[in-house]
Amino acid sequence: NEVIQITDIKKFYHVGTEVVKALQGVSLSINKGEYVAIMGPSGSGKSTLMNIIGALDTPTGGTYVLNGTDVSRLTDDNLAEIRNKEIGFVFQTFNLLPRYTALENAILPLIYAGVSKNDRVAKGKKVMESVGLTDRMQHRPNEMSGGQRQRVAVARALVNDPSIILADEPTGNLDSKTSVDIMRLFDEIHKQGNTIILVTHEEDIAMHAHRIIRLRDGLIESDLVNKKIETL
Ligand code: ADP
Ligand code: ADP
Repeated sequence: NEVIQITDIKKFYHVGTEVVKALQGVSLSINKGEYVAIMGPSGSGKSTLMNIIGALDTPTGGTYVLNGTDVSRLTDDNLAEIRNKEIGFVFQTFNLLPRYTALENAILPLIYAGVSKNDRVAKGKKVMESVGLTDRMQHRPNEMSGGQRQRVAVARALVNDPSIILADEPTGNLDSKTSVDIMRLFDEIHKQGNTIILVTHEEDIAMHAHRIIRLRDGLIESDLVNKKIETL
């Protein structure tokens, strides 16, 4: 039931004559249906690890197997294909296309996947409903609140039935009340059987996850069950 198997991943960046060791040997596996938070101070390697898990980048060493595919040795084209099929991204800055409606934004991954227009719209409406935006489908991003925009991003992340939802500081641009709403939405999505990986530096956000991995200096400092899960 392993979705992610990471073995001794290293990532080195060459900056001039210097070598920055962003990840120095990280191993972890994540099962289907887990809800994991990745934490750690600035510079500890969170973004680097997320980029690798999200198939945006490949490691310098070690292996990364995602749903049975060794992603660590793929070319950029194959990475893009895996990314679109396997991963739903949610970003701090929402990353919606301003000229498109909420519904059109939500179904973009289906266009890349070659799904027919009728199926796209049917699927899009269903997923917009599941994030509570039935009455906002024809709105453009600038006609929506931050919380609503992030809901559209969550809908877009879900629309392809990805293997994992990867959320990078998803509440970083939201006020505290809206953050709670979005985290409740993630809790719900998790209950429906989705695998969620959340990167955050905020303890109360991480407390929604069932497992908390802490990075320090490019290494895993701890990987623990969260005994203080925040429930509804
Ligand atoms: P975090 O997300 O925890 O803040 P990062 O993964 O962004 O950590 O960074 C880990 C280390 O790698 C830091 O020392 C950072 O400066 C360095 N780093 C990250 N990305 C790059 C890059 N593209 N080029 C050079 N160094 C980088
Ligand atoms: P929510 O809590 O659902 O995120 P808010 O209470 O912040 O919504 O906003 C209420 C209504 O005001 C929203 O339905 C939205 O249409 C409108 N609104 C809020 N913020 C903005 C904004 N920055 N730009 C445009 N419309 C907004």
